[in-house]
Amino acid sequence: MEIDTGQCVHCGLCLPACPTYVETGLEAESPRGRVLLLERLEENPELMNDAAAMFLDDCLGCRACEEVCPAHVPTAHMVEEWRAKEAYWPDEVGPEGFAVFRRISGPLSFFFGSARGLAWFQRLVRWSHWPVIGQWVSHLRFVPESARTLSEGLPHRVPKSLSRIRRGNPPAAPTDKAMLFVGCIMDTIYAETNHHTQDLLQLGEVEVVVPQRQRCCGALHKHGGAPEVARRWAQENIMAFEESGASTVVVNAAGCGAMMKEYSNLFEKEDPWYARACRLEEAVVDATAYLASLPLPDGAPQGAEITVHDPCHLAHGQGIRQEPRQLLKRAGYHIQEMPDSDLCCGSAGIYNLTHPAMAQSLQKRKVESVPEGIGQVAAANPGCLMHIQAGLRKQSGTVEAVHPVDLVWEAYHRQGVV
Ligand code: SF4
Ligand code: SF4
Repeated sequence: MEIDTGQCVHCGLCLPACPTYVETGLEAESPRGRVLLLERLEENPELMNDAAAMFLDDCLGCRACEEVCPAHVPTAHMVEEWRAKEAYWPDEVGPEGFAVFRRISGPLSFFFGSARGLAWFQRLVRWSHWPVIGQWVSHLRFVPESARTLSEGLPHRVPKSLSRIRRGNPPAAPTDKAMLFVGCIMDTIYAETNHHTQDLLQLGEVEVVVPQRQRCCGALHKHGGAPEVARRWAQENIMAFEESGASTVVVNAAGCGAMMKEYSNLFEKEDPWYARACRLEEAVVDATAYLASLPLPDGAPQGAEITVHDPCHLAHGQGIRQEPRQLLKRAGYHIQEMPDSDLCCGSAGIYNLTHPAMAQSLQKRKVESVPEGIGQVAAANPGCLMHIQAGLRKQSGTVEAVHPVDLVWEAYHRQGVV
């Protein structure tokens, strides 16, 4: 996508939707301000300086502005394009976020680029809980200071193996064959959620395949400014899908789902990969939306009330809001809505590493929105889960952030259905 700011009519409808504008009240930190800045920089590139770069780089890529914009200005996508052009400024130059991204993009490629790398990542995360080794892990050269606060949101028990196994028995007369996309953070830290997703799919009469070949979706690299890595990994996932024989790709991480639904943007239209990416895009479904469409049983009423956080890349990126609620209600949960449930929690991929101050302000706003008496916050994205959990532990220590699939699985498990 080229940077084309021409459609903006400067109406300002996007301002109240933008988390960085809501936090700062600054026009330069709003979508309209960023569009204007991009326009000026297109005309006069010499105007670029650290302040301009910071205002642009502060964008979370949450896409709330794109959803409300009457002129369909793709602000988040344009900022991403700009970042891809600028992210490799020479060391010591540019906003702090660039420096952090340069520092972690190599390790990210190593850890998330293969199953072996993911197993190492999982091991390091598990070790980070241990008293002495944890200190060593948190002081590894590539671990930014900001990762230490993020680690406060890790689950107490990190799984010991990846989630790439097929478990349970396939249904006798399946209505669909689905490839489970396991992800990177989901495959390691939240591996159990992938297992629970499989169980629920099979309960809904769907045959599940879990290809070993698949990789991280590439969203962290694409949003950070390294689309060439995302392109390579997208090709691996397209091949994994084609070889799987599945007609559906189920994704339980909102950020991955939104990324995979736009894989064709990574390729030129003349490139043969473009048509293959389009076929994958059509097959991708969010796990909560797909499960809500399956014939799952009604659950018994659950005791504690829950609330729902809408991850940006589910609500704004995929237009999915009601389906996770329908699924949870069918399993027996009572939902008490939180205000601004679709305002970004500040996690935004690696934003909480590259922009810790803004990420923590938004985290505080999010946990303060959780209504009194709530036991769990449902969030269908691993970054949100970890970031909101870190904020909840700082605040009270009792409320848990849980993936909706886990909540539904637990409800059915208590009934002995799974
Ligand atoms: S980006 Fe869209 S919503 Fe925002 S000021 Fe421009 S036209 Fe209006
Ligand atoms: S993507 Fe989000 S943070 Fe960026 S300008 Fe739009 S609303 Fe603001």
